[in-house]
Amino acid sequence: MTQPTGTHEFKAEIKQLLDILVHSLYTNKEIFLRELVSNASDALEKYRFATSGQDLADDVAPEIRIELDKEGKTLTIADTGIGMTADEVVQNIGTIAHSGSATFAKAAAEGKESVDSLIGRFGVGFYSVYMVADEVTVITKSVQNDAPAVQWTSDGKGTYELADAEGDYTHGTHIIVRLREDLADQFTDPESVKATIKRHSNFVNFPIYVEDERVNTVPALWREPKFQITPEQYTEFYQFLTYDSEEPFEVMHQSVDAPVQFSSLLFIPKKEWDVLGLSRDNWGLDLYVRRVLIEHQNKDLLPQYLAFVKGVVDTEDLPLNISRETLQDNLLIRKIASTLTKNVLSHLEKLAKDNAERYADFWREHAAVFKTGYTDFVNREKYASLLRFNSSAHEDAEGLTSLDEYIERAKEGQKEIYFVYAPSREAARLNPHLEVFRSKGLEVLALYEPIDEFAMDAVREYKGFPLVSAEHADVAKLDQFETTTKKDVEQLSEDDRSELDKLLADVKELLGDRVTEVKVSDRLSDSPCRLANPDGHVTSSMDKIMRVMSKDTSVPKKVLELNPDHPLVRNLIAVHHKNPADPFIAQAVTQLFESALLLEGYLTDPHALVERIQDLLTKSSGWYLK
Ligand code: ADP
Repeated sequence: MTQPTGTHEFKAEIKQLLDILVHSLYTNKEIFLRELVSNASDALEKYRFATSGQDLADDVAPEIRIELDKEGKTLTIADTGIGMTADEVVQNIGTIAHSGSATFAKAAAEGKESVDSLIGRFGVGFYSVYMVADEVTVITKSVQNDAPAVQWTSDGKGTYELADAEGDYTHGTHIIVRLREDLADQFTDPESVKATIKRHSNFVNFPIYVEDERVNTVPALWREPKFQITPEQYTEFYQFLTYDSEEPFEVMHQSVDAPVQFSSLLFIPKKEWDVLGLSRDNWGLDLYVRRVLIEHQNKDLLPQYLAFVKGVVDTEDLPLNISRETLQDNLLIRKIASTLTKNVLSHLEKLAKDNAERYADFWREHAAVFKTGYTDFVNREKYASLLRFNSSAHEDAEGLTSLDEYIERAKEGQKEIYFVYAPSREAARLNPHLEVFRSKGLEVLALYEPIDEFAMDAVREYKGFPLVSAEHADVAKLDQFETTTKKDVEQLSEDDRSELDKLLADVKELLGDRVTEVKVSDRLSDSPCRLANPDGHVTSSMDKIMRVMSKDTSVPKKVLELNPDHPLVRNLIAVHHKNPADPFIAQAVTQLFESALLLEGYLTDPHALVERIQDLLTKSSGWYLK
């Protein structure tokens, strides 16, 4: 060997790093196992690469073995990988601090952040073993011809010993960790070590044995070629990942090479996991770098509105020791996220196209989460195309339609998509704003949840069709459509017209500033009146949401529109004609107005309204007896 046996000094910055690690109080010390296992896996990978094409029939199996010795207080991790020559040992663990350690040492020297949090932030590779070890011995034999096995030993206090290894070794590396007194129990306990391996290294590509028991039994399915994977394997992996007892609803498996390299295996569960409710943080994708878990439930790989998606992402393009903080504003992660988002949306689009019923199942389960995606402006068109609504075209509240289907059914010349917010289908049916649409056979989408309105507000337009709230629709535009259910009502005489104008003026005077205006409606057919928003106002339901948020409890002022064709209004004209001061007019008008407020959800005190109804019923029941 070109390296002399005997005692060597660590390079200055490694000394410094070791000093910090030996004295650290860092609590998550088990990460040293992750680092050693991933080094072993890399060594096996390198070996496989170096020997590809060779006949290795007599070779040792590629594997990682961990042996525990409770009495001797040691943990040994051995691999049958590429091994190291003496020169390499000196270079790799003694001279060169890998990138993570270098950054770590620099940050530690600056002293701006506690060492403990730095260890969490930067993986420190091999040297992390000194958080748990009194002494470490590395015995390694390179695959290079005739390279003898070497033994490297150090207590991490400034120097290491180099010697020829005694005994017979094949290619690979043994690392014997003499554990610190206080940690020996934890890291010689097979169950605890197995749990740690499962947590961080479950998908390492080579078998890992702890005391002869194979620990990583589920393959990293995302790295396998798709055509080799059976549906049962996907289900098994999904259940392993999520603890769900059901099969996954959808499986999305892909490998991407550009613009970034990654593999992903994503699932949509059958059932919603309540990510908006109690388990708000329980979402995200598991991020792996070359099969080693970097972060569980990473929340930068998918936007929250796709939080129902579960799964893993693995990339070769990130360093193993990347910190969480750097992940967050990492360009690569952002690129992966934007590709994943597009892919999930495309997958859903295809599902909707190929099997509308299955998509409806998806929608019923996951819509509440999905709808929050109205803030994703980049994918707005795709998002909008995936929205589903109940509409007036359906027989019941179960029916679902897409904006595309709405457009297909639109009347000739119809250039807008109409919607109404209603707490229920029944409420939509009784909503006076919808009468004109019904009478002209125009479809109206029903929005049953406040979030729908935010979605409509954000989307604004779909494929050239503005989304228009029914209560704000421009009547002039609606006029072009023929009224199909027109009732035969007698035209008002000249006299009655002018009486109506007087009635309107009196009603305005009676209601005072409770309304901004009282006028004849041009769009009602069945209801006697409606409350309309003054021009340019937000929809009533949006107004309500804003009022709740700003704790405004006042009743908004609106326009009261009367339907001159309605029998009640006709009667009022007649009564007014006889005696403009008849108390019935005030009673009936106030009643109409408050009923309209009640329908819009603004009537806070119903006492007067109820009293008036009872009074009117008393009178009218008397008329029945006559
Ligand atoms: P990193 O793995 O990030 O390069 P480490 O400090 O963990 O940093 O390891 C330094 C180097 O030592 C590795 O790059 C590798 O060349 C070598 N090495 C570590 N462990 C092994 C091993 N089990 N077999 C062969 N080489 C190893």
